Amino acid sequence: MNELLRIENLHVAAGGKELLHGVDLIIHTGEAHVVMGVNGAGKSTLLHAIMGNPAYEVTEGKIYFEGQDITDLSVDKRARLGIFLSFQSPISVAGISVENFIRTAKTAVTGEQQRLFPFKRLLKASMQDLDMDPAYASRYLNDGFSGGERKKNEILQMRVLSPKLAMLDETDSGLDVDAVRTVAKNIADYHDETNALLLITHLNQLIRFIRPDRVHILIGGRIVAEGGPELADEVEARGFDAYRAAGEA
Ligand code: ADP
Ligand code: MG
Repeated sequence: MNELLRIENLHVAAGGKELLHGVDLIIHTGEAHVVMGVNGAGKSTLLHAIMGNPAYEVTEGKIYFEGQDITDLSVDKRARLGIFLSFQSPISVAGISVENFIRTAKTAVTGEQQRLFPFKRLLKASMQDLDMDPAYASRYLNDGFSGGERKKNEILQMRVLSPKLAMLDETDSGLDVDAVRTVAKNIADYHDETNALLLITHLNQLIRFIRPDRVHILIGGRIVAEGGPELADEVEARGFDAYRAAGEA
């Protein structure tokens, strides 16, 4: 399998504080990785740094994507390379419909104008898969959306943008059991040998549907344990207590 993402000794700071203290991570195309950890461990920070959010400064270390050093690349350039990040709390955007937003994003990411009717067909099919009411396409982005609708919207964006690396930040939180199943099934359907997933979850709901190839435990800005899917089962059974000491060291 090809190396897609390589992170070497990543240190990240925000608000004058170092939040990640030397993270190493390698993701190959075709793999699904899960990052677990207590609240405030730095999980979202890691994803923001990979996406290139300027609020998170890389103070040391490197990020490579398909062999290219992207450490200093802007968010939009990373998006065009095929990196996608869903947000934990997507904001409302008044005046922009879901359809226009996703079509504009797709145009920006691919550099190709999206023809209206093929795009509408793609969007409609993806929305059907997600059990979304077709009327959402013309609603304003996130305006009055329930938590579940916002989360489904993130998955819809992922499916339409078709990234090589899809990073999903707690996409399972706040969803009812049926919605978790639908969302997880859609993520699992999307995932194949041409792309990779980097999922953050502190629950185990998603992992029941998407067995990860690798699980990383992040505590206190450090990866303190790594393993296969059995590590997620162990965390579910015993919690993070066994790892806290290592993270606080
Ligand atoms: P997690 O996603 O694992 O819950 P985060 O990555 O969101 O944790 O946050 C890790 C720590 O960094 C927390 O203490 C949080 O308050 C802090 N933090 C996150 N983002 C910022 C920021 N932009 N500025 C300052 N501190 C931040
Ligand atoms: Mg977070």
